Amino acid sequence: MSRQVLVFLIDALGYEQARDAEFLPSLAAPRAPIETVLGYSSGCIPSLLTGAGPARHGHLSMYRKAPTHGGVFSGIGPWVAAAAKMTGRHWTMRRWISAYLRRRGITGYFSLYDVPLPWLRYFDLCQRKNVYAPQAFSEMPGLPDVLQQHAIPHRIFDWTISEEEAFAGLAAEIRDGNSRVLFFYRPDLDGLMHTVGPRDRRVKEKLDDYSRRIGEMIDTARARHREVEVYVFGDHGMAEVEHTHDVWAALRGLPFAVPGDYLYFLDSTMARFWFRHDEARRSVRRVLAELPYGRILETRELEDLNAFFPQQDYGEMIFLVEEGHLLVPSFMGLTPVRGMHGYHPLAAASYTTLVTNQELAHYPRNLFELHDVLRAAFERAAA
Ligand SMILES: [Zn+2]
Repeated sequence: MSRQVLVFLIDALGYEQARDAEFLPSLAAPRAPIETVLGYSSGCIPSLLTGAGPARHGHLSMYRKAPTHGGVFSGIGPWVAAAAKMTGRHWTMRRWISAYLRRRGITGYFSLYDVPLPWLRYFDLCQRKNVYAPQAFSEMPGLPDVLQQHAIPHRIFDWTISEEEAFAGLAAEIRDGNSRVLFFYRPDLDGLMHTVGPRDRRVKEKLDDYSRRIGEMIDTARARHREVEVYVFGDHGMAEVEHTHDVWAALRGLPFAVPGDYLYFLDSTMARFWFRHDEARRSVRRVLAELPYGRILETRELEDLNAFFPQQDYGEMIFLVEEGHLLVPSFMGLTPVRGMHGYHPLAAASYTTLVTNQELAHYPRNLFELHDVLRAAFERAAA
Protein backbone atom coordinates (compact mmCIF):
# COMPACT_ATOMS: atom_id res chain seq x y z
CA MET A 1 0.00 0.00 0.00
CA SER A 2 1.26 3.44 -0.84
CA ARG A 3 -0.89 5.81 1.15
CA GLN A 4 -2.37 5.81 4.62
CA VAL A 5 -4.38 8.57 6.28
CA LEU A 6 -4.18 8.80 10.08
CA VAL A 7 -6.83 10.95 11.75
CA PHE A 8 -6.66 11.71 15.48
CA LEU A 9 -9.65 13.55 16.93
CA ILE A 10 -8.73 14.34 20.52
CA ASP A 11 -11.74 15.79 22.31
CA ALA A 12 -10.97 19.27 23.75
CA LEU A 13 -7.53 19.48 22.14
CA GLY A 14 -7.56 23.27 21.93
CA TYR A 15 -5.21 25.69 20.23
CA GLU A 16 -3.81 26.40 23.70
CA GLN A 17 -2.96 22.71 24.22
CA ALA A 18 -1.40 22.01 20.82
CA ARG A 19 -0.02 25.31 19.56
CA ASP A 20 3.60 24.65 20.57
CA ALA A 21 5.88 22.34 18.60
CA GLU A 22 6.53 20.54 21.89
CA PHE A 23 3.30 18.66 21.11
CA LEU A 24 4.09 16.29 18.23
CA PRO A 25 7.46 17.87 17.32
CA SER A 26 7.76 15.69 14.21
CA LEU A 27 4.78 17.59 12.74
CA ALA A 28 6.41 20.97 12.82
CA ALA A 29 4.19 22.83 10.33
CA PRO A 30 2.63 26.05 11.67
CA ARG A 31 -0.51 25.70 13.75
CA ALA A 32 -3.26 28.30 13.84
CA PRO A 33 -6.53 28.70 15.75
CA ILE A 34 -9.57 26.97 14.24
CA GLU A 35 -13.01 28.31 15.18
CA THR A 36 -15.42 25.85 16.74
CA VAL A 37 -19.24 26.05 16.85
CA LEU A 38 -21.69 26.98 19.60
CA GLY A 39 -22.53 24.04 21.83
CA TYR A 40 -20.68 21.07 23.24
CA SER A 41 -19.03 18.04 21.65
CA SER A 42 -22.57 16.88 20.81
CA GLY A 43 -22.64 19.77 18.31
CA CYS A 44 -18.95 20.23 17.45
CA ILE A 45 -18.21 16.65 16.38
CA PRO A 46 -21.26 16.45 14.06
CA SER A 47 -20.07 19.76 12.52
CA LEU A 48 -16.64 18.22 11.90
CA LEU A 49 -18.16 15.06 10.48
CA THR A 50 -20.71 16.73 8.18
CA GLY A 51 -19.11 20.08 7.37
CA ALA A 52 -22.38 21.79 8.32
CA GLY A 53 -23.48 23.87 11.31
CA PRO A 54 -25.80 22.80 14.16
CA ALA A 55 -28.87 24.34 12.50
CA ARG A 56 -28.36 22.03 9.51
CA HIS A 57 -27.28 18.73 11.09
CA GLY A 58 -29.60 19.31 14.06
CA HIS A 59 -27.16 18.69 16.94
CA LEU A 60 -26.22 21.42 19.43
CA SER A 61 -26.35 20.19 23.00
CA MET A 62 -26.95 16.62 24.17
CA TYR A 63 -30.49 17.43 25.32
CA ARG A 64 -33.20 19.04 23.24
CA LYS A 65 -36.90 19.50 23.80
CA ALA A 66 -38.97 16.37 23.24
CA PRO A 67 -40.91 16.43 19.98
CA THR A 68 -44.71 16.45 20.27
CA HIS A 69 -44.92 12.77 19.32
CA GLY A 70 -42.63 11.91 22.23
CA GLY A 71 -38.88 11.70 22.76
CA VAL A 72 -36.72 8.75 23.74
CA PHE A 73 -37.74 9.14 27.38
CA SER A 74 -41.50 9.20 26.78
CA GLY A 75 -41.79 5.45 27.38
CA ILE A 76 -40.22 5.70 30.81
CA GLY A 77 -43.26 7.37 32.29
CA PRO A 78 -43.75 9.38 35.43
CA TRP A 79 -43.48 6.29 37.65
CA VAL A 80 -39.70 6.37 37.28
CA ALA A 81 -39.63 9.74 38.97
CA ALA A 82 -41.96 8.56 41.70
CA ALA A 83 -39.86 5.44 42.26
CA ALA A 84 -36.66 7.47 42.39
CA LYS A 85 -38.18 9.78 44.97
CA MET A 86 -39.29 6.87 47.13
CA THR A 87 -36.06 4.91 47.07
CA GLY A 88 -33.69 7.87 46.82
CA ARG A 89 -31.50 5.59 44.71
CA HIS A 90 -31.12 7.85 41.73
CA TRP A 91 -28.02 6.09 40.47
CA THR A 92 -29.94 2.79 40.23
CA MET A 93 -32.69 4.50 38.30
CA ARG A 94 -30.19 6.19 36.00
CA ARG A 95 -28.50 2.88 35.28
CA TRP A 96 -31.87 1.30 34.58
CA ILE A 97 -32.89 4.14 32.24
CA SER A 98 -29.56 3.94 30.36
CA ALA A 99 -29.99 0.19 29.86
CA TYR A 100 -33.57 0.78 28.69
CA LEU A 101 -32.40 3.31 26.07
CA ARG A 102 -29.69 0.94 24.77
CA ARG A 103 -32.33 -1.81 24.48
CA ARG A 104 -34.52 0.62 22.54
CA GLY A 105 -31.70 0.92 19.99
CA ILE A 106 -30.10 4.22 21.02
CA THR A 107 -26.48 3.82 19.85
CA GLY A 108 -25.37 7.45 20.26
CA TYR A 109 -23.28 8.73 23.14
CA PHE A 110 -25.30 10.05 26.06
CA SER A 111 -25.16 10.48 29.81
CA LEU A 112 -28.04 11.23 32.16
CA TYR A 113 -25.76 13.47 34.25
CA ASP A 114 -27.94 15.15 36.89
CA VAL A 115 -30.99 15.88 34.77
CA PRO A 116 -33.92 15.84 37.23
CA LEU A 117 -35.56 12.45 36.64
CA PRO A 118 -39.16 13.75 36.78
CA TRP A 119 -38.29 16.15 33.93
CA LEU A 120 -36.53 13.67 31.64
CA ARG A 121 -39.67 12.95 29.64
CA TYR A 122 -39.88 16.60 28.51
CA PHE A 123 -36.52 16.22 26.77
CA ASP A 124 -34.96 14.16 24.04
CA LEU A 125 -31.43 13.10 23.09
CA CYS A 126 -30.03 14.81 20.00
CA GLN A 127 -27.77 11.86 19.17
CA ARG A 128 -29.85 8.71 18.73
CA LYS A 129 -27.26 7.01 16.52
CA ASN A 130 -23.52 6.74 17.00
CA VAL A 131 -22.14 9.60 14.89
CA TYR A 132 -19.08 7.52 13.97
CA ALA A 133 -21.27 5.03 12.09
CA PRO A 134 -22.73 5.58 8.60
CA GLN A 135 -26.25 7.02 8.28
CA ALA A 136 -25.99 8.82 11.63
CA PHE A 137 -27.33 12.07 10.18
CA SER A 138 -30.70 12.01 8.49
CA GLU A 139 -30.16 15.21 6.50
CA MET A 140 -26.65 14.71 5.12
CA PRO A 141 -23.71 12.32 4.96
CA GLY A 142 -20.98 12.32 7.60
CA LEU A 143 -17.35 11.33 7.06
CA PRO A 144 -18.14 7.65 7.88
CA ASP A 145 -20.61 7.72 4.95
CA VAL A 146 -17.87 9.11 2.69
CA LEU A 147 -15.63 6.18 3.66
CA GLN A 148 -18.44 3.73 2.96
CA GLN A 149 -19.52 5.32 -0.35
CA HIS A 150 -15.99 5.20 -1.73
CA ALA A 151 -15.46 1.69 -0.34
CA ILE A 152 -12.27 2.87 1.36
CA PRO A 153 -10.80 0.19 3.64
CA HIS A 154 -10.87 1.86 7.05
CA ARG A 155 -11.32 1.49 10.77
CA ILE A 156 -12.86 3.89 13.24
CA PHE A 157 -11.97 3.75 16.94
CA ASP A 158 -14.71 5.58 18.84
CA TRP A 159 -15.82 6.23 22.44
CA THR A 160 -17.20 2.70 22.89
CA ILE A 161 -13.78 1.27 23.80
CA SER A 162 -11.15 2.19 26.41
CA GLU A 163 -8.07 4.23 25.62
CA GLU A 164 -5.75 1.24 26.05
CA GLU A 165 -7.88 -0.95 23.78
CA ALA A 166 -8.01 1.84 21.23
CA PHE A 167 -4.25 2.43 21.10
CA ALA A 168 -3.55 -1.31 21.01
CA GLY A 169 -6.12 -1.80 18.24
CA LEU A 170 -4.74 1.11 16.25
CA ALA A 171 -1.13 -0.12 16.58
CA ALA A 172 -2.14 -3.62 15.41
CA GLU A 173 -4.10 -2.22 12.48
CA ILE A 174 -1.23 0.03 11.35
CA ARG A 175 1.23 -2.87 11.66
CA ASP A 176 -0.82 -5.67 10.10
CA GLY A 177 -4.03 -4.27 8.62
CA ASN A 178 -5.11 -3.06 5.21
CA SER A 179 -6.89 0.14 6.20
CA ARG A 180 -6.22 3.17 4.11
CA VAL A 181 -7.93 5.47 6.57
CA LEU A 182 -7.72 5.15 10.35
CA PHE A 183 -9.95 7.45 12.38
CA PHE A 184 -9.07 7.57 16.05
CA TYR A 185 -11.25 9.42 18.60
CA ARG A 186 -10.46 9.83 22.31
CA PRO A 187 -12.56 11.63 24.98
CA ASP A 188 -10.04 11.19 27.83
CA LEU A 189 -8.25 14.55 27.61
CA ASP A 190 -11.62 16.32 27.78
CA GLY A 191 -12.56 14.37 30.91
CA LEU A 192 -9.21 15.08 32.56
CA MET A 193 -9.33 18.82 31.85
CA HIS A 194 -12.89 19.08 33.18
CA THR A 195 -11.69 17.52 36.44
CA VAL A 196 -8.32 19.20 37.03
CA GLY A 197 -8.49 22.28 34.80
CA PRO A 198 -6.53 22.92 31.58
CA ARG A 199 -3.43 24.31 33.33
CA ASP A 200 -2.78 21.40 35.69
CA ARG A 201 0.51 19.52 35.27
CA ARG A 202 -1.42 16.28 34.70
CA VAL A 203 -2.73 17.79 31.47
CA LYS A 204 0.83 18.46 30.34
CA GLU A 205 1.69 14.83 31.17
CA LYS A 206 -1.33 13.61 29.19
CA LEU A 207 -0.34 15.73 26.19
CA ASP A 208 3.24 14.42 26.41
CA ASP A 209 1.87 10.89 26.50
CA TYR A 210 -0.35 11.47 23.44
CA SER A 211 2.56 13.15 21.69
CA ARG A 212 4.75 10.10 22.25
CA ARG A 213 2.10 7.50 21.38
CA ILE A 214 0.82 9.26 18.28
CA GLY A 215 4.46 9.79 17.21
CA GLU A 216 5.04 6.03 17.50
CA MET A 217 1.94 5.32 15.39
CA ILE A 218 3.19 7.68 12.70
CA ASP A 219 6.64 6.01 12.67
CA THR A 220 5.07 2.56 12.33
CA ALA A 221 2.88 3.74 9.46
CA ARG A 222 5.83 5.37 7.70
CA ALA A 223 7.74 2.10 7.81
CA ARG A 224 4.96 0.47 5.76
CA HIS A 225 3.69 3.19 3.46
CA ARG A 226 5.24 5.47 0.94
CA GLU A 227 3.00 8.30 1.99
CA VAL A 228 1.40 8.84 5.40
CA GLU A 229 -0.97 11.77 5.92
CA VAL A 230 -1.47 12.78 9.55
CA TYR A 231 -4.20 15.03 10.96
CA VAL A 232 -4.39 15.70 14.71
CA PHE A 233 -7.03 18.10 16.01
CA GLY A 234 -9.78 18.70 18.57
CA ASP A 235 -13.40 19.78 18.41
CA HIS A 236 -13.10 22.74 20.83
CA GLY A 237 -10.75 24.03 23.54
CA MET A 238 -11.03 24.21 27.33
CA ALA A 239 -11.19 27.21 29.68
CA GLU A 240 -10.24 27.38 33.34
CA VAL A 241 -13.35 27.81 35.52
CA GLU A 242 -12.99 30.93 37.68
CA HIS A 243 -16.53 31.64 38.91
CA THR A 244 -19.68 29.62 39.59
CA HIS A 245 -23.29 30.83 39.72
CA ASP A 246 -26.53 29.32 40.96
CA VAL A 247 -29.13 30.31 38.36
CA TRP A 248 -31.30 27.40 39.41
CA ALA A 249 -32.01 29.04 42.78
CA ALA A 250 -33.07 32.25 41.04
CA LEU A 251 -35.44 30.29 38.81
CA ARG A 252 -36.90 28.38 41.73
CA GLY A 253 -37.65 31.75 43.34
CA LEU A 254 -39.98 32.68 40.49
CA PRO A 255 -43.72 32.05 40.89
CA PHE A 256 -43.74 29.63 37.94
CA ALA A 257 -43.89 25.87 37.71
CA VAL A 258 -42.45 23.30 35.30
CA PRO A 259 -44.01 22.32 32.95
CA GLY A 260 -47.21 24.38 33.41
CA ASP A 261 -45.59 27.79 32.99
CA TYR A 262 -42.28 27.06 31.41
CA LEU A 263 -39.56 24.49 30.92
CA TYR A 264 -35.83 24.93 31.16
CA PHE A 265 -32.64 22.97 30.71
CA LEU A 266 -29.48 24.03 32.54
CA ASP A 267 -26.32 23.08 30.66
CA SER A 268 -23.04 23.98 32.32
CA THR A 269 -22.67 27.20 30.29
CA MET A 270 -26.18 27.72 28.90
CA ALA A 271 -29.64 28.09 30.37
CA ARG A 272 -32.27 27.28 27.78
CA PHE A 273 -35.98 28.09 28.14
CA TRP A 274 -39.35 27.32 26.60
CA PHE A 275 -42.39 29.29 27.75
CA ARG A 276 -46.08 28.59 28.02
CA HIS A 277 -47.05 32.26 28.47
CA ASP A 278 -45.70 35.77 28.17
CA GLU A 279 -45.56 36.54 31.86
CA ALA A 280 -43.03 33.74 32.41
CA ARG A 281 -41.09 34.85 29.33
CA ARG A 282 -40.88 38.47 30.53
CA SER A 283 -39.94 37.53 34.11
CA VAL A 284 -37.15 35.20 33.02
CA ARG A 285 -35.81 37.78 30.59
CA ARG A 286 -35.76 40.31 33.44
CA VAL A 287 -33.89 37.92 35.76
CA LEU A 288 -31.33 37.03 33.07
CA ALA A 289 -30.78 40.65 32.02
CA GLU A 290 -29.52 41.42 35.52
CA LEU A 291 -26.86 38.72 35.51
CA PRO A 292 -23.51 40.34 34.64
CA TYR A 293 -21.76 37.11 33.67
CA GLY A 294 -23.77 36.16 30.60
CA ARG A 295 -26.30 37.27 28.02
CA ILE A 296 -29.24 36.11 25.97
CA LEU A 297 -28.30 35.10 22.42
CA GLU A 298 -30.82 36.80 20.15
CA THR A 299 -32.06 35.36 16.84
CA ARG A 300 -29.69 37.34 14.65
CA GLU A 301 -26.61 36.16 16.55
CA LEU A 302 -27.82 32.55 16.60
CA GLU A 303 -28.26 32.74 12.83
CA ASP A 304 -24.71 34.05 12.46
CA LEU A 305 -23.53 31.12 14.59
CA ASN A 306 -25.37 28.58 12.39
CA ALA A 307 -27.35 27.71 15.52
CA PHE A 308 -30.79 29.19 14.99
CA PHE A 309 -33.54 26.55 15.14
CA PRO A 310 -36.91 27.90 13.95
CA GLN A 311 -38.66 25.08 15.83
CA GLN A 312 -36.81 26.11 19.02
CA ASP A 313 -35.52 22.61 19.57
CA TYR A 314 -32.78 23.84 21.92
CA GLY A 315 -34.68 26.68 23.56
CA GLU A 316 -36.77 29.63 22.59
CA MET A 317 -34.49 31.72 24.80
CA ILE A 318 -30.81 30.80 25.24
CA PHE A 319 -28.66 32.44 27.92
CA LEU A 320 -24.91 31.91 27.47
CA VAL A 321 -22.34 32.66 30.19
CA GLU A 322 -18.97 34.33 29.63
CA GLU A 323 -15.81 32.28 29.40
CA GLY A 324 -14.56 31.08 32.79
CA HIS A 325 -18.03 31.15 34.37
CA LEU A 326 -20.03 28.04 35.21
CA LEU A 327 -23.62 27.32 36.17
CA VAL A 328 -23.54 25.24 39.37
CA PRO A 329 -25.63 23.36 40.12
CA SER A 330 -26.84 22.49 36.64
CA PHE A 331 -28.37 19.44 35.00
CA MET A 332 -24.81 18.54 33.98
CA GLY A 333 -23.45 18.47 37.51
CA LEU A 334 -24.28 19.47 41.06
CA THR A 335 -20.71 20.35 42.02
CA PRO A 336 -18.13 22.61 40.32
CA VAL A 337 -15.46 21.38 37.91
CA ARG A 338 -12.13 23.06 37.07
CA GLY A 339 -12.38 23.20 33.30
CA MET A 340 -15.25 23.89 30.90
CA HIS A 341 -16.06 24.58 27.24
CA GLY A 342 -19.30 25.42 25.49
CA TYR A 343 -18.76 29.18 25.59
CA HIS A 344 -19.05 31.55 22.65
CA PRO A 345 -16.99 30.14 19.73
CA LEU A 346 -14.99 33.38 19.64
CA ALA A 347 -14.00 33.19 23.34
CA ALA A 348 -10.22 32.90 23.76
CA ALA A 349 -10.04 29.27 24.87
CA SER A 350 -12.75 27.94 22.51
CA TYR A 351 -10.48 27.43 19.51
CA THR A 352 -9.02 24.12 18.44
CA THR A 353 -6.17 23.64 15.96
CA LEU A 354 -4.89 21.23 13.34
CA VAL A 355 -1.47 19.58 13.58
CA THR A 356 -0.57 17.98 10.28
CA ASN A 357 2.36 16.91 8.13
CA GLN A 358 0.56 18.18 5.03
CA GLU A 359 1.32 21.44 3.30
CA LEU A 360 -2.18 22.77 2.92
CA ALA A 361 -3.02 25.27 0.22
CA HIS A 362 -5.60 26.63 2.64
CA TYR A 363 -5.28 26.13 6.39
CA PRO A 364 -8.80 25.59 7.80
CA ARG A 365 -10.31 28.53 9.68
CA ASN A 366 -13.24 26.62 11.20
CA LEU A 367 -14.61 23.10 11.71
CA PHE A 368 -16.37 23.18 8.34
CA GLU A 369 -13.15 23.83 6.46
CA LEU A 370 -11.41 21.21 8.59
CA HIS A 371 -14.09 18.79 7.40
CA ASP A 372 -13.21 19.68 3.80
CA VAL A 373 -9.51 18.95 4.46
CA LEU A 374 -10.38 15.50 5.86
CA ARG A 375 -12.83 14.69 3.09
CA ALA A 376 -10.21 15.55 0.46
CA ALA A 377 -7.70 13.29 2.24
CA PHE A 378 -10.23 10.43 2.27
CA GLU A 379 -10.89 10.90 -1.43
CA ARG A 380 -7.16 10.76 -2.15
CA ALA A 381 -7.02 7.52 -0.17
CA ALA A 382 -9.79 6.10 -2.36
CA ALA A 383 -7.94 6.82 -5.58
ZN1 LIG B 1 -16.23 18.23 27.62
